[in-house]
Amino acid sequence: MAETPTCSFSDKCFVCGKKSEEIKQKNPDTNLPVCDDCIDTEEEKKKVKEAIESLGDGFICGCI
Ligand SMILES: [Zn+2]
Repeated sequence: MAETPTCSFSDKCFVCGKKSEEIKQKNPDTNLPVCDDCIDTEEEKKKVKEAIESLGDGFICGCI
């Protein structure tokens, strides 16, 4: 009876954060799900850039 925990990340638009079961496409640059409202928008491009930058710089962390 318990609900199976699902990874909400996989069905949430990475641009607007909207949770949608309709999301079937992913941004090829980030491999993150993006909804119909956000795909091919300036907002999406901005988020892609942010995501790539944060992966590039932020991942080299001082976690020692
Ligand atoms: Zn969206």
